[in-house]
Amino acid sequence: MDKTVAEAEIIQLKEQLNKWSQEYYVDDNPSVEDHVYDAAYQRLLSLEAKFPELKTADSPTQRVGGKVLTGFEKVNHEIPMLSLGDVFSKAELADFSERLYQASGSEFPYSCELKIDGLAISLTYENGLFVKGSTRGNGLIGEDITENLKTIKAIPMKLNKPVTVEVRGECYMPKKAFVALNEAREKKGQPIFANPRNAAAGSLRQLDTSVTAKRNLSTFIYYLMEPEKFGVTTQSEALNLMASWGLKVNQESRVCQGRAQIEAYIDEYQKKRPDLTYDIDGIVLKAEPFSVHEKVGNTIKVPKWAIAYKFPPDEQETIVRDIEWTVGRTGVVTPTAVMDPVILAGTTVERASLHNPDYLKDKDIRLLDTVKLHKAGDIIPEISEVVLAKRPEDAKPYAIPTQCPACQAELVHLDDEVALRCINPQCPAQIKESLAHFASRNAMNIGGLGPRIIDQLFSKGFIHDAADLYKLTFEQLLTLDKFKEKSAQKLLDAIDRSRENSLERLLFGLGIRHVGTKAAQILAAHFKDSNHLMQARVDEITAIDNLGQIIADSVATYFAQPAVQNLMAEFKAVGVNLTYLGTGNDSQVQNSSFSNLTVVLTGTLDHIKRSDAKAYLEAHGAKVTGSVSKKTDLLICGHDAGSKLAKAQTLGTRIMNEEEFLQKMEEEK
Ligand code: NAD
Repeated sequence: MDKTVAEAEIIQLKEQLNKWSQEYYVDDNPSVEDHVYDAAYQRLLSLEAKFPELKTADSPTQRVGGKVLTGFEKVNHEIPMLSLGDVFSKAELADFSERLYQASGSEFPYSCELKIDGLAISLTYENGLFVKGSTRGNGLIGEDITENLKTIKAIPMKLNKPVTVEVRGECYMPKKAFVALNEAREKKGQPIFANPRNAAAGSLRQLDTSVTAKRNLSTFIYYLMEPEKFGVTTQSEALNLMASWGLKVNQESRVCQGRAQIEAYIDEYQKKRPDLTYDIDGIVLKAEPFSVHEKVGNTIKVPKWAIAYKFPPDEQETIVRDIEWTVGRTGVVTPTAVMDPVILAGTTVERASLHNPDYLKDKDIRLLDTVKLHKAGDIIPEISEVVLAKRPEDAKPYAIPTQCPACQAELVHLDDEVALRCINPQCPAQIKESLAHFASRNAMNIGGLGPRIIDQLFSKGFIHDAADLYKLTFEQLLTLDKFKEKSAQKLLDAIDRSRENSLERLLFGLGIRHVGTKAAQILAAHFKDSNHLMQARVDEITAIDNLGQIIADSVATYFAQPAVQNLMAEFKAVGVNLTYLGTGNDSQVQNSSFSNLTVVLTGTLDHIKRSDAKAYLEAHGAKVTGSVSKKTDLLICGHDAGSKLAKAQTLGTRIMNEEEFLQKMEEEK
């Protein structure tokens, strides 16, 4: 290749990669898939290798990570936080280990670890206490995110040993949290995150740490800095030592020797990837003996003793047959692509959300287009791009609807929302969605009343609002598709049982904006009955712990509506309970492993306030008492516990430490 041609391509690649890096590292909003970035990066690397004189300091190959954001204090990384070199095939991996073998002069095993798709963080402990946490930033200077990291339960505020140490690892968003976050954002008309990594980065770098706290982030720690201080000589020993201090270390790591073992590890985890609760984008291989690390050292960007094997993208081509528009409970109208079915990460996929009109327009997806489909974060089906070469000649840009598909009302954009909305309060689609929400498990929990039945009840004119459910007759239910005496009676019984629910279920079921299960529980417990709540002033609501202005405004505005007041009167008339029955009555609570236990809390809890732990236990059916006796079923024990712990040990009472307690809370969420 001619040097001037190469130079032009290098300039163009640098520009492109720097733009993508800005979107990825700074805006947390990438416009292309990682493998597209990686391919361009590899091309740049190979051109720079051919023409080293064309390598410049501003090349992405010479820089680690992104920019340091303003708004956070800066932190100097005394030992730079490096990236990792990557390979994309087993042959390249074998070349890497051969080179490393030559450079180090001996055979050695590798610590094989999962490559967690999150962002690198550094944690500093002094005498066992967590004092500072930061992002990688540009590798030399990161952002101080100590306060944000303190909201993450997996990060101990105090280690089991009073060590002074810096450790590094990955902060990530579990798949479940990622799906829930994107669903919630979509419902609120906000843009969605492309993958769990960007969601984690966006959540961590929040100036308001209460936002971070709500995002269910977690961590895995994988580097021990200055291991010689602790007398460890291998990576696996370092991992074990950090785990023994109470740090969360990924348990899937394995020491492997030789190509066969390493490749078996890769194959195993490529298969297991869909079943993991967090996303991984490859495998990291680190020379197991630290002596090799010292011997071969680092480049300015990556360690020479480690490499990332990146999984190939799981992508399939398919054809868009239709774009469906559905109206949600809050009126947000969402497009979904319906495609020829393909298999991705082990499941058949034929639908992918297109989120909002802007997204659809940006990707310029048209009917009968061939598209590339993958799973974002290995979990959410997503169209990466249109294969333009396969576009039918007569394809026209997709026309975004201007009217609600359910009620034909004019669709609008509220404020600066990306979402399209139907704001007709009589829109049948919204009413049906609201009824489904009312009947759902965390609301009135009316088993058997799903969307299909609601649809029929509504179109037959039997129900118009939630109170009508309680007026349904046996004869009416018999007219439903496939309904016989037994099924009709079963549904009537389920509806009847829901009359007795405690107030918080009704409150959540009403679908008041910003009132989730937790706020509903707090409101019900505080006001005790619907009358008090309906008359509550905004300042009375904001005065309650854990409820802010937004919820207070929303609740007050909701109950000020005459239609809502009529609905509440109707509930009363049909015998729906409108009072708070305390915790023991709730069926969700009875499912908790804490229900009916007598529990004592002792010692210092690092991650949860004592009062919150008590409230949680009580809300889940436990009785919390102050002293340990024969009647105590469980002692939850923080550190520095004294006589209560000793007594529980003599009595043989079950003991749970804080971590186990938090884990249980997490499982029961
Ligand atoms: P990387 O993500 O490829 O690999 C290095 C990182 O892996 C480390 O910094 C660490 O955070 C992480 N990691 C996870 N598990 C680990 C473990 N067990 N041990 C050690 N490290 C572990 O590198 P990077 O510098 O963070 O990012 C570069 C990558 O980002 C590119 O390869 C590309 O895929 C992606 N990227 C994408 C775009 C885009 O537009 N889509 C833009 C820029 C970068």
